[in-house]
Amino acid sequence: MHFTVLSDDSSAQVALTEQVETVLDREVRFVKGVGPKRAEALGRLGIETVRDLLLHLPRQYEDRRHARSVRELEVEKPAVVCGTIAHVSYRPTHGPRGGVLQVQVDDDTGTIALVWFNARPRWQKSFPVGETISAYGSVTFYAGLQMVNPDYEVGRTPEESEKFSRILPVYPLTEGVSQRLMRRMVASALEMAADRAAEMFSPARLKEKGLPGIKRALRDVHFPRSMAAQRAARRRLCYEELFLFQTALAVRRAAVARREGMSFKVGPNVDRRIRSLFPFEFTEAQDRVIAEVAADMRSPRPMNRLLQGDVGCGKTVVAVYAMLAALAESSQGHQVALMAPTEILAEQHYLTLESLLEKASLRTALLTGALSAAERRDTLSRLAAGELDLVVGTHALIQPDVEFHNLALVVVDEQHRFGVRQRLELRRKGPPPDVLIMTATPIPRTLALFCFADMDVSIIDQMPPGRRPVATELKPPGRWEEAFEAARAELARGRSAFVVYPLVEEKRDLDLTSAREGYRQLAEEVFPDYACCLLHGQMPTARKREVMKGFRDGHYRVMAATTVVEVGVDVPRATVMIVQHAERLGLAQLHQLRGRIGRGEHAGRCFLLADPGTETAERRLRVLTETNDGFRIAEEDLRLRGPGELFGTEQSGMPEFRFYDFSDLALLQETREDAAAVVAADPHLTEPSNALLRRRVLARYGKRLGFADIG
Ligand code: ADP
Ligand code: MG
Repeated sequence: MHFTVLSDDSSAQVALTEQVETVLDREVRFVKGVGPKRAEALGRLGIETVRDLLLHLPRQYEDRRHARSVRELEVEKPAVVCGTIAHVSYRPTHGPRGGVLQVQVDDDTGTIALVWFNARPRWQKSFPVGETISAYGSVTFYAGLQMVNPDYEVGRTPEESEKFSRILPVYPLTEGVSQRLMRRMVASALEMAADRAAEMFSPARLKEKGLPGIKRALRDVHFPRSMAAQRAARRRLCYEELFLFQTALAVRRAAVARREGMSFKVGPNVDRRIRSLFPFEFTEAQDRVIAEVAADMRSPRPMNRLLQGDVGCGKTVVAVYAMLAALAESSQGHQVALMAPTEILAEQHYLTLESLLEKASLRTALLTGALSAAERRDTLSRLAAGELDLVVGTHALIQPDVEFHNLALVVVDEQHRFGVRQRLELRRKGPPPDVLIMTATPIPRTLALFCFADMDVSIIDQMPPGRRPVATELKPPGRWEEAFEAARAELARGRSAFVVYPLVEEKRDLDLTSAREGYRQLAEEVFPDYACCLLHGQMPTARKREVMKGFRDGHYRVMAATTVVEVGVDVPRATVMIVQHAERLGLAQLHQLRGRIGRGEHAGRCFLLADPGTETAERRLRVLTETNDGFRIAEEDLRLRGPGELFGTEQSGMPEFRFYDFSDLALLQETREDAAAVVAADPHLTEPSNALLRRRVLARYGKRLGFADIG
């Protein structure tokens, strides 16, 4: 979906900004005190330019502003002390590494020893008895109070010392760059370039938001005057980063809204006809979502809707409704495409549709990588000629040679794989089609607003009647056998079981039982009386299909599988799932997995075999035993593991943020509203005051969001 949203220009304002900022884009070796060799070391930290160095943020800070008396010192805490050098001793140790230097420091309240190991004898000379000394370090207790390897300054009180009256940054480092050196390099980069950083926000906005300007923020994020100033600085950088992203989305959304799409007549007759195809009543949630979808379809604005809901909540039903509604006026020659993430799922959808549409006399086809060249050519030519009404397929649908005659609606079943949306570029003539995307990954509301800011979101939060939640138990080591016992009991009643393994094959460094090895154990030792099978993602498709069919038909009763079963297996007789090494998987993923069982008349039981190790890991898994609410589970995952786990960073299309870490979800909402206001007032960002904003948005998100004319 490429369309012109922003076109680049080089207004005087932008040119000016560029000139001012060029120093930021210079190679880092030009910073005073860096040079070619250190620049190479910095390269390992991803620091190439002056800008990169300025944006290399501290991971923490040492607040050295408050000196304490010896009596006030607390063990295990870092502190600054100041006193008089009372005694110096040096004890050589055997070996080449020097000895132990001990400097006893007294103040009015007590004594502390500063200790250096691997010290040279001549170091003693640096500590004249009777001199004032200030020191910073972590306080320990070893036959008295100690600081090991403290930072120190002789002859100055903390107030007189540059390094003890400040908050110092602590940076992520690399070999060849010490903390001191990094501080010096950052300081000279600030000196050289901080004042050249261009300000994106007006003074009025900064004031309204209570944010410091960019120059102040850059300084305060490295060498803050107070921790409050540091927090404000970081917030400013996060705000700017999110604001850019939200602006990009808002621009895109506005552009989408301006486009003329198709409108469909979805009237009561069509509605009745479609409903009569299903052997059940729709749930309230389905009805609500269908009403939202139908309203989108009636409107000439192209639908761009995300449909969320747990596995099995009946999303496919909604999708089928939309497809049939789009095809209802046969005189229009509309075409509909349904895209699934795997061949197996595409086939499954195709079969479901075929059985539903028996009477509807629609011309349908399946388009996957499994077609022969001749079949594919034939299908493509019928698509282009308008001789097919409905096509179901995989990514094969979005190959460049696929052309539609009159594509009216695209449904994408993403399951848990995100990112298709970004690549969705179906060839078609005429106006843009309506788009409906289904996902089984529950996305916390705040985050959904953010990731899908250019889409409308519908949620099915209700299961069809009769579906019971899957009872889930966490089994620590020592109690795993109980899970296998329970599985045997279910098998004896004629039901089937999944055993899930996180990996296909043993990796040396990870002590995980692989699916392959697990399969052998299951077949030979654990369930010798039942036919077992193995399913994993690396198997050829034909073999996968055979195995799935065998399992569905009850020929196989136990399936050892990798997490591929997450996607699309519908086996009503499967009532037990045992997940090995559950601690290795995300909560959302585990939740999807267990959605695969208990889909028939009998309730499902899921056992998480885990060696959680830590309390957090255990608390995390426990959430699954307490709730079946996918959204709550997703929130928890987001909180504990970050968005990468939820989306799979690579293909998610989620931008990588440099500063923002998702700990402040409210900031998402705030920037969304602020960006929306700016774009509402200036949809193309052509106002001179938005010149820098527009430039940044184009540079950062132009390609990703399919903005044309990136220049
Ligand atoms: P999803 O796509 O959300 O995973 P499906 O649409 O595949 O869910 O529905 C899961 C199962 O529930 C299917 O077998 C479907 O026929 C059935 N189903 C869906 N909606 C209802 C309903 N309202 N009443 C009864 N069964 C339903
Ligand atoms: Mg489905």
